[in-house]
Amino acid sequence: MDSDDTIAAIATALAPGEGSVAIVRMSGPQAEAIGRSLFVAPGDQPWASHRVLYGHVRDLSSGERLDEALLLLMKAPRSFTREDVVEFHCHGGLVAVARVLELVLRCGARLARPGEFSQRAFLNGRLDLTRAEAISDLITARSRRAAQLAVAGLDGGVQRRISALRERLLDQLAELEARVDFEEDLPPLDPEALVAQLEAVRGDLRQLVAEASEGQLLREGLRVAIVGRPNVGKSSLLNALSRRERAIVTELPGTTRDLVESELVLQGVPLTLLDTAGIRATDDPVERQGIARSRQALASADAVLLLVDLSEGWTAADADLSAQLPAGVPALVVGNKTDCAAGPPPAPVDVGISALTGSGLEDLAAALLSRCGLSLGPGLQVALNARQRDLAAAAATSLGGSLEAAATGLPWDFWTIDLRQAVRSLGEITGEEVSEAVLDRVFSRFCIGK
Ligand code: GDP
Repeated sequence: MDSDDTIAAIATALAPGEGSVAIVRMSGPQAEAIGRSLFVAPGDQPWASHRVLYGHVRDLSSGERLDEALLLLMKAPRSFTREDVVEFHCHGGLVAVARVLELVLRCGARLARPGEFSQRAFLNGRLDLTRAEAISDLITARSRRAAQLAVAGLDGGVQRRISALRERLLDQLAELEARVDFEEDLPPLDPEALVAQLEAVRGDLRQLVAEASEGQLLREGLRVAIVGRPNVGKSSLLNALSRRERAIVTELPGTTRDLVESELVLQGVPLTLLDTAGIRATDDPVERQGIARSRQALASADAVLLLVDLSEGWTAADADLSAQLPAGVPALVVGNKTDCAAGPPPAPVDVGISALTGSGLEDLAAALLSRCGLSLGPGLQVALNARQRDLAAAAATSLGGSLEAAATGLPWDFWTIDLRQAVRSLGEITGEEVSEAVLDRVFSRFCIGK
């Protein structure tokens, strides 16, 4: 299913003054002709597929050289989109590559929409929808474990799991539909075996749905708020964790005195730590504002660390704070300053640490992740994204409908309605049964040039 137009975009990240190489990518029937018309390759370098040419990009109308570049031609179908693809590997930065793109567009290509290369790859059967989505997940992965999940999806982990379940449902559907039409010509169907099959598939789907939330946390990261009285060591903990992981991406001071955000990766899980101002009754209007912000941060957090100072033990003020934590957000009570506390931590404290010496930080990480329902170690092999999870959940619900029809002894054709719907939902995950509108929505979330 070749498109008749040629699309083009800058395929690499755009950052001023950074990156030594930037790529302009074209895909479509005109790609090679446009490439040939702009690119001057000195000597007798052959224009062959999957060979790199060295030369420069020249503006034909002015004769001006825009960049020294490499050109890579990949003839259909041996390309990402299965169309003719030409890539110009230009110098990095912003200007040269933008001028090359502009020229390509003037020569008849049109600017690609976000994800349009991947969409063509999908439409031309190069990859299924789950693999295409995994590409986008890999590009946006913020941690090692999120990237591993994306690669598993790219290898077809999601597609194989879902297709296998869909095949099982299709087998059952075929049996049922045959009975609807030719009941008397066929051996009788064993309703118990059929119910067992549907229940097994529903169980697998429910498990995938449950695991999806873990995958989502790995992909999107956890927002963890640190609360505690002044001087218990909140900023020290933030610094200790950030130093240890050597992966601070940003440190955004919210306002002068209150909210500090810090991004780091803890055991492969991206984490946004919010250091909040102490929550306590105050008449100071500025402090009040800070406290209001802290409360918001708390309410939006995936987990809360309540930090207490073990050199002072568990105080009434700590108990007060603890009582004010939002219900429903997993909380961990962390005792700091084990280095100057005698004896084991008092009762409500889950883990003891010393932000100063760094002791106990491993235990804190483990306790935090497990409190959030994340397994440690490699854990999940595949994880559905939100779109896939919703469809898997819908399929499980449809199967529930079939099972209900079975339980109430309704005739075969009542079973098939929901079963067919379940098959359709699973087909929508892999893209075997999917509308153009859904495809557009999926691919529009991609970055341009992918
Ligand atoms: P915050 O107000 O909760 O952010 O607390 P800070 O991080 O500013 O720490 C308050 C004081 O406690 C500072 O003097 C820190 O050096 C000290 N402190 C923080 N963590 C520890 C620790 O683990 N052991 C000891 N002995 N002192 C600590």
